[in-house]
Amino acid sequence: MTFKSYLESGGENCPKCGSTAIKASAPPEKIKGGKVRVAMFCATCGARWQDTYTLSMAEDL
Ligand SMILES: [Zn+2]
Repeated sequence: MTFKSYLESGGENCPKCGSTAIKASAPPEKIKGGKVRVAMFCATCGARWQDTYTLSMAEDL
């Protein structure tokens, strides 16, 4: 897999090995511009990378 296919699949699988055993390795961190950064980790191959999310919706709970 590549980061391109990782993004196209919605971030469901490790961008290196394709495993679904991926999780955030730290709490999400809010950054400027309505973005949130999340450090990610793959339990299968040990890959580490960073996801960046952009605010797209807000609603009452
Ligand atoms: Zn992996």
